[in-house]
Amino acid sequence: MFRDKLMTDIRLRPVIKVLKDKCVNCHRCIMVCPVKMCNDGSGDIIEHHSELCIGCGECIEVCTHHARIGIDDFDVFMEDLRTGKNIVAIVAPAIAASFEGNYLKVNGLLKSLGIKAVFDVSFGAELTSKSYADYMKKKHPKMVIAQPCPTLVAFIEMYRPELIAYLAPADSPMMHTMKMIKRYYPQYKNHRIVAISPCYSKRREFDEVGIGDYNVTFKSLQGYLDQKHARISSYPAVEYDNPPAERAVLFSSPGGLMRTMQRYDADIMSKTRKITGAPGVYQYLALLAEAVKKGESPIYQLVDCLNCDLGCNGGPGTENQGKHPDMVECMVERRNRKVQEQYRPKGLFGALFGRKKLEKLLNAYWEEGLYGRSYTDRSAIFKKMVVNPTQDQIRATYSKMHKTKPADILNCGACGYKSCEQMAVAIVNSLNKPENCRHYIDVEKALISERSERTIKETIDRVLGHALEEMHQTIDGISSLSAKINETADYVLQSSAAIQQMVENTQSITTNLEHNAEAVLRLNESSTAGKDRLHKVGELIAEVAIQSDALIEACKVIGDIADETGVLGMNAAIEAAHAGDAVGKGFAVVAVEIRKLAESSGHQAGEISKNLKTIKSLVDTSKESSVMAQNQFDTMASIIHTVNTEEISIKNAMEVQSAGGTQVIQSLNEINTLIARVQDASSSLLISGKAIIADIQSLKAM
Ligand code: SF4
Ligand code: SF4
Ligand code: SF4
Repeated sequence: MFRDKLMTDIRLRPVIKVLKDKCVNCHRCIMVCPVKMCNDGSGDIIEHHSELCIGCGECIEVCTHHARIGIDDFDVFMEDLRTGKNIVAIVAPAIAASFEGNYLKVNGLLKSLGIKAVFDVSFGAELTSKSYADYMKKKHPKMVIAQPCPTLVAFIEMYRPELIAYLAPADSPMMHTMKMIKRYYPQYKNHRIVAISPCYSKRREFDEVGIGDYNVTFKSLQGYLDQKHARISSYPAVEYDNPPAERAVLFSSPGGLMRTMQRYDADIMSKTRKITGAPGVYQYLALLAEAVKKGESPIYQLVDCLNCDLGCNGGPGTENQGKHPDMVECMVERRNRKVQEQYRPKGLFGALFGRKKLEKLLNAYWEEGLYGRSYTDRSAIFKKMVVNPTQDQIRATYSKMHKTKPADILNCGACGYKSCEQMAVAIVNSLNKPENCRHYIDVEKALISERSERTIKETIDRVLGHALEEMHQTIDGISSLSAKINETADYVLQSSAAIQQMVENTQSITTNLEHNAEAVLRLNESSTAGKDRLHKVGELIAEVAIQSDALIEACKVIGDIADETGVLGMNAAIEAAHAGDAVGKGFAVVAVEIRKLAESSGHQAGEISKNLKTIKSLVDTSKESSVMAQNQFDTMASIIHTVNTEEISIKNAMEVQSAGGTQVIQSLNEINTLIARVQDASSSLLISGKAIIADIQSLKAM
């Protein structure tokens, strides 16, 4: 219980956040992290244990996926301002490197937001230098590790607590400034304090010392301006509410503490180890205690160290990372020259007067014990969260990582750790997994590749077996298809011949029909001519009949005359008999002759009449026959016409049938061509199929 409370008391607040949806598990953050174990690589992304994080911000800079961001108090600060909380600001000296010539306009911005007063931390840095100088002068420490950088303080407290004894027992410039406000500016004693800083870690210092309410980074301030589409140059330049610093404006640059300390010890440069930037500063501090133990350290009395390469000017809360040091520091240097002039009035003793003036000013804001600082040993957190594995545990872990021989210990750093052993420690503590080791991946890849090869071979065999079967079936299918195609081709050929024959027959019938039509035409013409002639014969017969009737009549008249002549002859004879012999005799002869002639004429006329009646009867019969013949001619003409009409329609039908047959033949020819192609294709298919079977068999044999 007590231990849990202790853990809570010494636990550090989060200053770094992981945006899980952006993390791609690339491990660059682990690679640059000076303390490694605050990163948890046991899952699909890299999680973050803030209790073990020293807040160096290296992972923010290195994460090209923007999955790591710093946490500051901007939102709470703005909300408290909005609700009318009384707040004063302290501004870090690095402001000159971030807002360049406009750093005094930042004060204008802050005041426009409702900040009551703005204090320059550079002056707090002057007080810090005085505290250091006082401590070194009075205590003569063998070594003083500078502590303005809260990240390095967190590192020592958590990971190298044996160095706590060497940390300067004085506050950082920010803490000096805050305590100065509380002590010397009673009007702001109860005001909340916001630190405008280049560093996310500063918030932890406030927690530790118990002063300071908000840590707002330059980045957040710039983000606020960007969001409002405002430019810092549009705000008025406003002087700080505390006295100006002299050279301590350099505190934000590497070696700035040392250069400020020159005021108190002209020889301080030869007594100072200036070291900035990860990983160098961590390697130095990590081995420092051991070097001290061995008597190899300290060589230097003052260790002027900062976490960031560019000092606080390039802190993680700025946008200066990756810039050239001269570009970042030039504004700080210019400011340094400018502020120093304020403490160097012209004249022979200007420098002396200036120094005296500064001394007096610093004394006015400094008193012994006010700015003292103590530190907390936080190593229990690390010890609780990360066990130191035994050699057996390391060996067992190596085994899980497929490391079975010395050559497997690559120490390549691909996992983000400095060595395979460090990775094994992380795995033992469930902070990583073998799958993130390059060697493990290589071995797994080889195993998987072996397994895959086997599986692939089996699969290929199976697939080829199936394929072979299928191909045989296909070939059989193609063969029977070919046979069917050949049958069809024969059938089509036969059909073509039959239809050709039919078309020829049709054409021959058509030709015959044409000839018939001509014959019928001729028959029709002959029949018409015959009919005409018959008609004329009929007319002649009728005429003959009339003439016959006339002749019969004439014969009848002759017969009558003969009868009358006979009567006359008899009368003449009678008369002759009366007339005597002389006359009557001659007359009787004439009368006899007349009677004979009359009898002969009557007889002849009767014979003629009989003959004429026979002729008349024959003429009448001929007439009837002629009429009948005419009727038959008419019937024949009608039949010829019908025959002609039917022949024409048959001929037309034959022509249509012939044309259809020709088309059918054309289609059959096309079908024949297609069938020939299909036959070719099916032959090629057969050849290819057999070649495929041969290939499959060779593949199977491999
Ligand atoms: S650097 Fe770290 S946080 Fe960023 S993507 Fe890579 S693993 Fe994730
Ligand atoms: S801020 Fe620094 S200590 Fe914390 S996780 Fe990132 S690199 Fe590691
Ligand atoms: S071999 Fe694996 S465990 Fe070792 S350093 Fe490389 S990646 Fe890390």
